[in-house]
Amino acid sequence: MAVNTECAESQETRVLPLLSPRTRAKHDLSKRNDNIPLFYAEMSGEELDRRITAAREALGERVLILGHHYQRDEIIKYADYRGDSFKLAQLAAARPQADYILFCGVHFMAESADVLSGAHQKVILPNPAAGCSMADMANIAEVEECWQMLEEQLGADAGIIPVTYMNSAANLKAFCGRNGGIVCTSSNAPAVIDWAFKQGKRVLFFPDEHLGRNTGLKYGIPEEQMMVWNPKDPMASDDAEEEVERAKIILWKGHCSTHMRFSVEQIEQARATYPDIKILVHPECRHEVVAAADLYGSTEYIIDQIEKAPTGSKWGVATEINLVHRLAQEHPDQFIFCLDPIVCPCSTMYRIHPAYLAWVLEALLDGEVINQVSVDADTAHWARIALERMLALAK
Ligand code: SF4
Repeated sequence: MAVNTECAESQETRVLPLLSPRTRAKHDLSKRNDNIPLFYAEMSGEELDRRITAAREALGERVLILGHHYQRDEIIKYADYRGDSFKLAQLAAARPQADYILFCGVHFMAESADVLSGAHQKVILPNPAAGCSMADMANIAEVEECWQMLEEQLGADAGIIPVTYMNSAANLKAFCGRNGGIVCTSSNAPAVIDWAFKQGKRVLFFPDEHLGRNTGLKYGIPEEQMMVWNPKDPMASDDAEEEVERAKIILWKGHCSTHMRFSVEQIEQARATYPDIKILVHPECRHEVVAAADLYGSTEYIIDQIEKAPTGSKWGVATEINLVHRLAQEHPDQFIFCLDPIVCPCSTMYRIHPAYLAWVLEALLDGEVINQVSVDADTAHWARIALERMLALAK
């Protein structure tokens, strides 16, 4: 299947996404800073490469660069480690000699690294505008309102266990820590749901409706016992109260725009073109896509399946394009392509540009920490409790 159409954003090579003046004003009191000096934005790729390499050498082991799998190659080539969000946060914690952790990912990942790393370590997100649209679909005020409404309707013994996906703000992880809940990743979501039902009777799962549904169905909860909670209008349907009463899993209405691009039609077309193809998808995709696939699992699972596949294997993959392209390059003996013909990267990950890397590294050489992501002590304490509950499951 020829991949010949590209979305506008993936053609962008030099444009540096900046916060709008309004958004910038909103963050004036935080440590966020997106006023990248113009000369960095105007530098050639060669000049940026020279300056990044020189700054890294000068900083030595004091700086650790982490690159999420969804980052573009121009960033990944500088990463000391690449991985998914959780693996990278753990790696940050395992390198105490690094005073500065440059997290080339998105905001919630940098927060998790700050929660898990040492007090002396400073976590930097090179471009503070690199958020995650899914993580932004749940905020603490809406989750607390939902919690209160559910408790009012279901009573004190409702037995609701809050479960948040790793892709969420630190204050939502802290909410789970405070309320007997837990964090999950796309790898361990089934084990986390199992744990949650041993602690209580219901699960409130946020912010990804699709990971929650896919995991619930895998666990054996029928669709009728799952309801979708729309924070903008939670009681819109006529039988909303009955839905709440019978729901074993309450799914927050949130999604990943990147993984929502995949469809059953794309899978059918790939199979029609290549009858021996294997379809491998991420659980943030809609359930019908997951159900139609041969295999599904987390980013690390997808990588693992391809790494151990024999020469000549053919894969249609439903996940972020930078990762799929890299897998194709690293496994030229296999045929690997992205199921979405309109090739589009995760637009928020894409905001990390080499110019930001050069800027924050050179600032460190001058003793200045730019774009630090710092979680306050109380939030970090409770978020760590929710993360540690998850880690205990792996032991
Ligand atoms: S791929 Fe989706 S979930 Fe992952 S960072 Fe991008 S928007 Fe967020």
